[in-house]
Order: sequence, then C-alpha cells, then structure tokens
Amino acid sequence: MFSQFALHERLLKAVAELKFVEPTPVQAAAIPLALQGRDLRVTAQTGSGKTAAFVLPMLNRLVDLKQKRVEIRALVLLPTRELAQQTLKEVERFSQFTFIKAGLITGGEDFKEQAAMLRKVPDVLIGTPGRLLEQLNAGNLHLEHVQVIVLDEADRMLDMGFAEDVERLCNECPNREQTMLFSATTGGAGLRDMIGKVLKTPEHLMLNSVSQLAEGTRQQIITADHNQHKEQIVQWLLQNETYDKAIIFTNTRVMADRIYGHLVAKDYKAFVLHGDKDQKDRKLAIERLKQGGAKILVATDVAARGLDVDGLDLVINFDMPRSGDEYVHRIGRTGRAGNEGLAVSLICHGDWNLMSSIERYLKQTFERRVIKEVKGTYSGPKKVKASGKAAGVKKKKTDKKGDKKVVAKRKPTAKPKPNAPLASSDGLAPLKRRKPAPAAE
Ligand code: AMP
Repeated sequence: MFSQFALHERLLKAVAELKFVEPTPVQAAAIPLALQGRDLRVTAQTGSGKTAAFVLPMLNRLVDLKQKRVEIRALVLLPTRELAQQTLKEVERFSQFTFIKAGLITGGEDFKEQAAMLRKVPDVLIGTPGRLLEQLNAGNLHLEHVQVIVLDEADRMLDMGFAEDVERLCNECPNREQTMLFSATTGGAGLRDMIGKVLKTPEHLMLNSVSQLAEGTRQQIITADHNQHKEQIVQWLLQNETYDKAIIFTNTRVMADRIYGHLVAKDYKAFVLHGDKDQKDRKLAIERLKQGGAKILVATDVAARGLDVDGLDLVINFDMPRSGDEYVHRIGRTGRAGNEGLAVSLICHGDWNLMSSIERYLKQTFERRVIKEVKGTYSGPKKVKASGKAAGVKKKKTDKKGDKKVVAKRKPTAKPKPNAPLASSDGLAPLKRRKPAPAAE
C-alpha cells in the first residue's frame, strides 16, 4: 500500500485518485530510500513504474515549502521530448492537490515561449539536456537553488551523446542535496564514469537484471528472405494477430515511410513517427495512438523511449535494432505494468548475427516462429540449422505446432512477477553498443 510510505497526504490523495494501490517493486524499493534523501542509482526496466518512484519523493520534498516560489527546486533530465512530456504529465498528476508547478523545456518548441515560462519560475523543471543548455547559455535558466536532480534513462542520454551536457547541468546545481539516476540497463564505462561524477555514495537498486526484462512479453523471431518478404509478414501479422495497438520499428526513416505508405494504401489506420517529422506531427501521432484514432505506429527509434500507450501489445521489429539496449527499449513499449505483449523480430540473412548477439546479451533464446502462409526459404545459417536443438531452431514438426499454437492463442512464456525480489547480478555478455547514436531518426 502506498500509505506505508511517509508521503505527504496531498500526494497520497493523488495516488489514490490515480488508483495506484500496490507499489510496483521499483517503487517499493526506491521510494523509502529516496524519501531519506539518499542518492540512488536504479536499474529498472521501462514500464516498471519508475517514474512514480522518483516523482513522488521529489514532490514530497517540495510540497511543504513555505517560501514563495522564486527558484527552480528540482530538475529532471531525460533523453527525448516524448519522455519529457510524459514525465511532465506524471508530475502534474501527482502534484494536482499541491501548489507545485512544473515546466517543460525540450527541443522543437518555441525558445522565447520557453524563456517566458522560465521567468515564471516553475518548482520542477523537466527537459532534455540540449535545449536546457541553450536556455542556460542564453541566461534564461538559473539552477543554483536546485535541491534534487533526476537523470532518467541515463544510459540512453549517454548513447545519444549527452554526457557532457548532463554533467554541465549537474555542475550548475552546486547546492543539490540529492541525485537519482535511473537506467534500463546497467550500462558500460560511460555510465560508470557519470555515476562516479554526479552521485555521492549511491545506493544501487537492481530491479530485474537485463535478462529478466520484458517478462510479460513473448519474444519471437521470424526469418525472412528480403525486405519485400518482411512486408508480407508484417501484413500477415497485422491481419492475423490479436492486438489492440501495434508499433513497427524500422532503422531508417525511408523504410518507415515506405511501410507507412503501404499500410495507408491498404486502409490501415496508421501513423509514422521519425526525426523528419516536426514536433506537431509527433505529438499528433502519439495522441492519435493513445486515443485509438490510429492503431498502428510505424517508427524509428526516436519513438522507442518514453512512449506509454495503453494497449500497445504488438511490437514488430521490421529491422533488428542495432544494439541489445535498443532492443530492450523497443520491446519495453509492450508488456507494460504486467500486461501481456508480443514482440516479433523479422530476421533476414544480414540480421542473423545481430539477433544472435542480442540473444546472448539478454541471455534469452527468442522463440522461432514459422508462419506457413508466408514462409520463405531462409531459415537461419546452415550450421545452426544442423545443430538445431542447441541453437533453438526447431524442426518442421515443432514449427508447425508452434505456429498453430501462436495463432490460436498467445500466452506469455514467463508470467510477469510483479513482486520479484531485487536481483543483484548483471553479468552481461559484451555487446558492441551503438555509440553515439546516429543522427536522431
Ligand atoms: P513507468 O514505468 O513509470 O513509465 O510506468 C508505466 C505505467 O504503469 C504508467 O502508465 C504508470 O501510470 C503505471 N503505474 C506505475 N506505477 C503504478 C502502480 N503502482 N499501480 C498502477 N499503475 C502504475
């Protein structure tokens, strides 16, 4: 129960209003320590409820402030606009019975309007590092009274090349009393370096190791001969799978536009989201998907973070993501908060090695699925096929059975464990990370 936490009654009222009853594992682990003012480093999967895990203690710190609002007291840094917007909404929902005001600073929005908002001085400022620094450099942003900083999706901020910006922003807050860093993965040397620089003797909470991520999501691969064949498989999946909303990921804008074009031509209610789209289009796409005006989103990785859409239960990786972390973030769009989801990756000859390395990284073997109606000739490397069992490639008979089973009824391979104990080991196999990420798609 949330009442177990020493949270202000106005925040508990908001929690009740939002019908949060039981804290998720990350909330149960992080909130008490955060309320004590501890620096935290939290490794927790996307969709685990980590936003409330930092937002509630952060607001609790501010809720009783007697002084008139004159300074920014809390700063939340995130990698993408979408994630920042969603976090703003969470802050507003939780602070609805308080006088706390929050503001948002991200790229793609009007600079002067943001400056005007900053003149009114929000208590909590949420934003992406690049634009925050621009506002800082323009003399519009004053952070010296910030008490608490949250770095959310810190691994992703590093992947996007924001390390220096994040550090600079942290240095602009010399009087901060608490720093909390959240990441979906344990990250590499870059993350360790940042942790050493910005956190003071942090408590490390490991909520699910990477290999346990997305337990509520069934993960499958389907082999394909070429991109056109992949398109046929996508059509088949969209027609035959049971889903409320689906997202199709591609690695390039061109491919996203192409698939989108084919879907629209077939009368699917779809939207496309990538870096060429302006902020208005992006907001519209996300809103339409949330409200159900569109059922299918075709997107590059720009949408992989921060999307929290109810009923998003089918993820199709048209292209395999370029890193294990990206895979985790993509499929983190589904199976959220204990719901079931299905993630299908389409694998051509050129994708196989990447797919295998992601399997090793996650310490998982994806379910091999064959759909007889759209079966091609490629079925994985020959030597893997020969040693079938060890590599998890099933013989024809099993494929057929597997196919029937999948089409008839979807079941998660592992049940989500909402109260899973804290895991302490990571032991990740090395995998080249994409670094820095290519120009945002
Ligand atoms: P997050 O990982 O913070 O993006 O949260 C994922 C989704 O779970 C969001 O829609 C939250 O509103 C929801 N959520 C988070 N914590 C709880 C909770 N304790 N009870 C019910 N829903 C929750």
